[in-house]
Amino acid sequence: MNSIPPRLVLASQNPKKAAELSALLAPLGSQVVPLSAFTDVAPEENAPTFIENALIKARHAARVSGLPALADDSGLEVAALGGAPGVRSARYAGEAADDDANNRKLLEALADIPLGQRQARFVCALVCLRHADDPVPWLALGAWPGEILTAPRGTAGFGYDPLFFDPQLGRCAAELTADEKGRVSHRGRALRQLLAQWTADHA
Ligand code: IMP
Repeated sequence: MNSIPPRLVLASQNPKKAAELSALLAPLGSQVVPLSAFTDVAPEENAPTFIENALIKARHAARVSGLPALADDSGLEVAALGGAPGVRSARYAGEAADDDANNRKLLEALADIPLGQRQARFVCALVCLRHADDPVPWLALGAWPGEILTAPRGTAGFGYDPLFFDPQLGRCAAELTADEKGRVSHRGRALRQLLAQWTADHA
């Protein structure tokens, strides 16, 4: 019988992303254990799709922990850049790049693109495995459409949040509270889809 695993390892080395996912999972009553409780070693994320990279992370986490594992692979796709930075979002400005360096590189890449032609979307793939060799993973995708600003705004969130503007809300991702972001974000949308699958499987 499938249902929300009562205990899950969260396969994320990014503490801000892990905090967002933990907050979204909290109301479900599942105990979330960080991957850092088991290992500091991260698997190589070298696949061309978000789903495959999430599978790599979930399988690694399930294997080292012996627990069901939930993994997120996410990133930003910018239309004027042919979908870049995409699966390379975390490493856009180089292997050891931090958020500031990635944001600077994004602004430089879009320097000649005027407002109105800076459409982008965040995407998130979630994978949940009951065990490392699970042949039937739960999969969910979420997207959050918006635009890239010409200068950073706001102080909340992480990654590209200070440059990502949601025209429907009239605010930048880094100007949203965690709850507000969870209601509209790629991660929140993907997690609600996963929850619908867990609930349907349990019926
Ligand atoms: P991952 O750990 O390989 O999935 O890297 C995801 C990268 O995409 C992060 O390091 C951020 O640069 C970016 N990203 C993903 N989700 C978000 C978000 O919610 N806000 C801002 N940036 C994000």
